[in-house]
Order: sequence, then C-alpha cells, then structure tokens
Amino acid sequence: MSKYLKEKYASLAPYVPGEQPRDMKYIKLNTNESPFPPSPLAIQYAREEAERLMLYPDPELTSIKGALADYYGVKRECVSATNGSDDALNFAFMAFCDESTPALFADITYGFYKVFARLNHIPYTELPLLEDFTLSVDDYIGRRGTVFIANPNAPTGIFLPLSEIERLVASDTSRVVIVDEAYVDFGGESAVRLTEKYSNLLVIGTFSKSRSLAGGRLGFAIGSEELISDIERLRNSTNPYNINRMTMAAGVGALADRAYFEDNCKKIISTRENTSAQLRKMGFTLTPSSANFIFASHKSIDAEQMYLTLKKNGILVRHFTQEIIKDYNRITVGNAEEMQILIDKIKEIWGDIL
Ligand code: PMP
Repeated sequence: MSKYLKEKYASLAPYVPGEQPRDMKYIKLNTNESPFPPSPLAIQYAREEAERLMLYPDPELTSIKGALADYYGVKRECVSATNGSDDALNFAFMAFCDESTPALFADITYGFYKVFARLNHIPYTELPLLEDFTLSVDDYIGRRGTVFIANPNAPTGIFLPLSEIERLVASDTSRVVIVDEAYVDFGGESAVRLTEKYSNLLVIGTFSKSRSLAGGRLGFAIGSEELISDIERLRNSTNPYNINRMTMAAGVGALADRAYFEDNCKKIISTRENTSAQLRKMGFTLTPSSANFIFASHKSIDAEQMYLTLKKNGILVRHFTQEIIKDYNRITVGNAEEMQILIDKIKEIWGDIL
C-alpha cells in the first residue's frame, strides 16, 4: 500500500476469486464456469465484431438490451447490461444503499456483497441462514434496508421458491429487493416475471455460467423502468462503454442460440444429479443444489485436507474458511468425464474410509 492511498480505502479487504494456478493442468471445478465452449453463434458474432474494434462500442447497448428484452419478454427500458453481473451488483449497492439504508444479506452467500458494501461505505447486516442453510424470508421482513439474495444461493446451491421472494418483495414496497440469479438456469425459476408487478424488485443475471461467457464479462439487470434508469445513471457515470464490442456481439449470439443453451443446462443438471448420487453413496452430505455446483461435506474427511489433496492430484475445488461452512467443499459441475475422474480419484484416495 502506498502512503498516498486514502484512508477510506486502506481497510478494504478485496474479494478473493477462486485460485487460477498455472503450475500444471488442472481439472477446474472451483469457479463455477461452464465446461462447454460458448455457442458457435456467439463465437461467430464476436469474431465478426473484432474487425470493428477501432470503434467504441455502442454506449446505449442497443443490441444486447434488445436481445435481452426479447428473450425475457420485457420492455427494453426495463433492461440494463453490465461488465459482468458483479458490476450490476456494485451499481445496485451504490444506487439503493447509503448510511441510513443498510444492505441486508445472508451470512452464507456470495462473498462479494460484503466487499461492495465496504467499498461504498454502506453499513450491512449479515442475517444467519437456518441450520439447514435455507433462508427464512421472515428474518428480513420488518427490518429496514435493501435486501440482496442470491437465488439459488452460493455456495449452497439452495433455491428459495419464488412465492417466498414475492412475499418478501410485497411485504415492504418502500425498499428494494435485489435477486442475484447467477445460477438460476440450472433448476431455479427466474423472478423476472415479478418485475412487472413490483417496481421494487431488481433481478440481476449473468452470461458467465449457463451461457459459457465468463471470460467475456457480461451481466444484466431487469426491473421497473425507474430502477433501471437508476442503474443506467450509475453506468453512464462510471463507464458508458462498459461492454466491449466483441462481448456485446457474443451475448446477442448466445441468446439467439436457445437450443445450445438449453442442451448445456440439461447436461449440467444431469451430470450434477449423477455425481451427487455417487457422492451420497460414498457417505457425503450434500445440500440440495439447483446450481452448477455441489456443496459437499463428509464426516470422515476433513474438507480442507480433501481440497489440498485433490489439488495435488490435479483437481481444483473451492474450500471456504468461514467457520460455519469449513466442513464443506464447493465442487463445480464439469463435464461427465471430468466428474468421473473426480469420483474415481476420491475412491482411489479415500476408498478405505468411505
Ligand atoms: N453472483 C453470484 C452468486 C456469483 O457466484 C457470481 C460469480 N462469482 C457472480 C454473481 C458474478 O458473476 P459475473 O460477474 O461473472 O457475472
């Protein structure tokens, strides 16, 4: 840290992304990426757009907003797009929280929420999940503050039914509820349709998981015209060229190729269920996941040791040190072959105690 960094940022604890070691070739099951390449149409559109990289991208994001609006059946004015959904989340923290409007989120959820709150000097309260890692909406009702819910949640994968989201949103329309749907395509149900009914609901999505574009950095927000105009105000005050030409084109291609997307989601879900069944047979305890990852613990295997041993064996999973979940590892659902290698490795290493 330099002596010039201002005090307001000196105590920041930046988000720590999943490790990306380069010392050997790993099976990467630690950052919830898709094992499948982007849709051929996404690649083709991005390639064509590369020829126009000397020009700034469209600051109004006309093509991607239009494609998202068509896909989700909402008005174009109800859509914004961002550089990854992390940017949309940051804008939501900036727009809808301040010293007197704290952020409310679960104690076990996406780790970036806390970082965004601190970055923007926003007070926040982490509300404990229930013992089975489910979220009780009643804990949020009657409390002041802007609510952030990852649905399905990370790293548990547990999906909160839409009826519960609606009960929360309807309980207090003077505050905003943000639903982060990064993993919704793997078995959840999107709250987008509720945004027409509730002007205090903002849904945030990403192309990083189900649409295989993590490297492109493309996220979006859908909500009432008013909420979206707030997000746009921040986007245009930060960087109106926030989405580069190739990514915008890739996003349009990915949305157009519905069959490829649906097929990949189906494959991930079926591989998740198959891997889960095998892990359960070996004595692992799993949360019911509606996401592209599995959250697993075993009474006879120390989770951190498991993570370290798998890493030595060329398989990366994610271990969190947070006390309540330190007995778990989060395992991204890769392709069927990768998951079979994982299962075989676990049997080979821990077979005698399973
Ligand atoms: N929300 C959740 C719950 C996530 O796990 C992630 C991925 N780390 C994100 C949002 C951000 O994803 P991206 O910025 O790649 O869209």
